[in-house]
Amino acid sequence: MRTLCPYCGNYIVTVTTAVPGLLTWLLCSGCRCFLGCCLVPFFVKSLMDVSHSCPVCKHELYHYHRV
Ligand SMILES: [Zn+2]
Repeated sequence: MRTLCPYCGNYIVTVTTAVPGLLTWLLCSGCRCFLGCCLVPFFVKSLMDVSHSCPVCKHELYHYHRV
């Protein structure tokens, strides 16, 4: 999203990165099949936290948590 970066003062469009969050780990620890399906949440973006960062100075501006 477009915003003014408080760190470098540039008007930028944030770069979004999906990062494994608490929900991802909860789903992983809740699966006890040991067949690798517990890794699935790590590839499902809708289950991941989203990090918005500035493309100029690389500071993280927002962190959206699923839980
Ligand atoms: Zn910046």
